[in-house]
Amino acid sequence: MRIACLGGGPGGLLAALLAKRADPAREVSVFERNRAGDTFGFGVVFSDATLDGIDAADPVLRRALTGHGVHWDPIEVRLRGERWTFGGNGMAAVARRTLLSLLAERALEAGVDLRFNAPVQPDDLFGADHDGAGYDLVIASDGANSAMRARFAGVFGPSVVTATAKFIWFGTTYPFGGLTFVHEQSPHGVFAVHGYPIGGGVSTFIVETDEPSWRAAGLDGFDPAQPPGPSDEVTRAYLEKLFAEQIDGCPLLVNNSRWGNFRTWRTRRWRHREGRTAVALLGDAAHTAHFSVGSGTKMAMEDAIALVAALDGVRTDPDAIDAALAVYEAERASSRSTSSAARCPSPSCASATPRSSTRCTRPGGPPTGEKIRCAPPSASRARPSRIASCRSMTTWRGWPPDPCRCGPGPVPGDCGSAPRTPRRAWTRPSRRWRAALPPGPAWWPCGTAPR
Ligand SMILES: Cc1cc2nc3c(=O)[nH]c(=O)nc-3n(C[C@H](O)[C@H](O)[C@H](O)COP(=O)(O)OP(=O)(O)OC[C@H]3O[C@@H](n4cnc5c(N)ncnc54)[C@H](O)[C@@H]3O)c2cc1C
Repeated sequence: MRIACLGGGPGGLLAALLAKRADPAREVSVFERNRAGDTFGFGVVFSDATLDGIDAADPVLRRALTGHGVHWDPIEVRLRGERWTFGGNGMAAVARRTLLSLLAERALEAGVDLRFNAPVQPDDLFGADHDGAGYDLVIASDGANSAMRARFAGVFGPSVVTATAKFIWFGTTYPFGGLTFVHEQSPHGVFAVHGYPIGGGVSTFIVETDEPSWRAAGLDGFDPAQPPGPSDEVTRAYLEKLFAEQIDGCPLLVNNSRWGNFRTWRTRRWRHREGRTAVALLGDAAHTAHFSVGSGTKMAMEDAIALVAALDGVRTDPDAIDAALAVYEAERASSRSTSSAARCPSPSCASATPRSSTRCTRPGGPPTGEKIRCAPPSASRARPSRIASCRSMTTWRGWPPDPCRCGPGPVPGDCGSAPRTPRRAWTRPSRRWRAALPPGPAWWPCGTAPR
């Protein structure tokens, strides 16, 4: 079987590695437009509890985290001059660059043909290739802006929700102790950070704000058609000053850092056949998960495992390949991790009603279940830590009691459908947990609180 992976992110590299290792007779190539070692962003964070499936398929992620990553237990929330820490969460993070290098190394060892600096258009992969033979299977692992998904949009049926909130990623040399949610009120509005250490003396520093605050702060003065440049330095300087006390004056580091709006992609169908070549969407090309959920990489890697497992024993028979892709699609499109990620703080909710923190911190009634639903699936049990982190995120954004504005009850971001994660995760915290929460008004949801 001849397989081409379009895109050498974590999904494409793991799929290539596993496919080749499962059957060394397969010819497996990866086409990656970036040079080896180039990547966007800084780190990826994982919940320890979610890694077993990936570890069983290949130890690469566990080794990356153990050998090069940072582990922690507490989650810290910094809001209005106070800091709260909650334990009981096993989490770990590693630099994306490190994870990709280790994946590439293992793929090479397995005999995968890795081609960096090789931008490829979807149509280049159909018909006869450079060797005179076509591919039996193209794995479209070309990320959130997938050209393959666009090329066959009529088949894949993509849909997208664009958040109104603005985000930008940086690194910093400030050593966060673990996952830390930091909030600062500037004269222009509230800015919130997800920070966590990734090893090598660097932490990830992702900043979010609402569009009015972003504009009021004058951070919109760049040409989106141009790559990041001097105008983005305005943002860096602004945020370094705003968060200086929180990060002890440490600098912010850039890597293709540019304000954007997170886009949540879904596709109706994950597979296609174009002549002799089958096509499978994988990872962000098929579905994205908001970075506050922190599971996009994990899901891409799980897709790779499921795809290769479905192809077990399949050779070049097109019907057998199509049948395997149908199994893969059925398993992954309905998987708990992909559907949970879709429900957890989706851009539509995350950016529902940005308000200033002062308006969102009035004392009032008890927390509602809606707030708890927004915690990451990685912390799928209702614990103080996840409640607190969710609370901080929801509160500064000022989500109303019904963040989706589509009637009471549904899970934010997934209006109308029933929760599929364990019931406890979606219910109000017990009295014991509520007692463990820090006192103070930050907890109370906007809209329920007295003025
Ligand atoms: C700010 C931010 C923070 C995040 N934080 C986390 C986190 O903490 N934890 C987590 O699990 N996930 C996180 N994610 C999500 C995670 O980055 C993605 O879900 C993950 O990278 C998806 O992997 P992928 O292999 O599907 O796609 P990608 O990693 O996007 O890889 C796609 C690859 O395809 C290549 N490519 C695209 N088009 C072509 C072409 N035409 N020819 C050749 N190559 C091409 C690209 O260069 C890229 O290398 C974050 C995302 C963002 C935006």
